Amino acid sequence: MHYDTAIIGAGAAGMMCAAHAGGRVLVVDHARAPGEKIRISGGGRCNFTNLHCTPEAFISANPHFAKSALARYTQWDFIDLVDRYGIAWHEKTLGQLFCDGSAKQIVAMLRGMMQQAGADLRLGATASGFAKQDGCFNFSLQDADGNSEITADRLVVATGGKSIPKMGATGLAYDIAARFGLAVTPTRAGLVPFTFTDGRFAPLSGVALPARAMANGTAFDEAILFTHRGLSGPASLQISSYWEEGDALSLDLDPAGTLLEALRTQR
Ligand SMILES: Cc1cc2nc3c(=O)[nH]c(=O)nc-3n(C[C@H](O)[C@H](O)[C@H](O)COP(=O)(O)OP(=O)(O)OC[C@H]3O[C@@H](n4cnc5c(N)ncnc54)[C@H](O)[C@@H]3O)c2cc1C
Repeated sequence: MHYDTAIIGAGAAGMMCAAHAGGRVLVVDHARAPGEKIRISGGGRCNFTNLHCTPEAFISANPHFAKSALARYTQWDFIDLVDRYGIAWHEKTLGQLFCDGSAKQIVAMLRGMMQQAGADLRLGATASGFAKQDGCFNFSLQDADGNSEITADRLVVATGGKSIPKMGATGLAYDIAARFGLAVTPTRAGLVPFTFTDGRFAPLSGVALPARAMANGTAFDEAILFTHRGLSGPASLQISSYWEEGDALSLDLDPAGTLLEALRTQR
């Protein structure tokens, strides 16, 4: 079967791409449902954009990518889309926008857009044997309907990052990049909690407070959460992307500088 565009991965990126690609579009995912990571995002309410979103907020080996992407599609475009689908939202803190109801509304919106564009969605499907011949991509597709050979003018690999394999994440994109001889930048975990092998924060486990987390000249003022295994909470997750093993991580537990005054008052 021939398509103008074949997209591997029905996550946030794959569905958005399917809605906008135009022509005959195929979307393939090995999961049983699309957008599973969106469903669990933002604690089930999906932090779908940020009012203060700028290219500088993105970490990339190629900073111009975010500039060009955000010049064409901004947070205001996405807010407009969410409004058109009647999804109620609120600003939680620091410009972070969440659904009032459920992240499932964002999944339903993207799925609806994809369907409206007439995309052919194949779930529970395995794609393999990627190759390019005569300017056309081809691969084998195996799903409940059996085996088929797919050809497409364009191949979009939107299989996401490797985190949470239980939710369907695989390294397929890296295998395809290797097969086609594409250079891949080294990857590492980002937006992750810190774990300490000595359990030093275990006695404080469950305590959350506003703090400033700092590493390598970058700082985030948000909540930190002590856990049995170490440090979590938004400030820890954010700063983790700027920290590498061996670097110093500093925490200011009185970022507003009001502790002395509070102690005086308490005395
Ligand atoms: C707990 C958690 C909370 C989060 N909260 C937020 C939030 O509030 N706001 C926010 O913006 N981001 C949040 N994120 C990040 C967000 O979920 C991801 O950035 C986003 O899902 C990435 O979209 P994607 O389309 O690139 O990849 P994914 O959503 O991961 O989609 C990839 C798709 O490809 C499929 N796939 C993978 N391998 C194969 C294969 N070999 N064959 C076929 N299909 C394959 C997968 O099944 C999946 O459906 C959160 C992430 C997590 C883990």
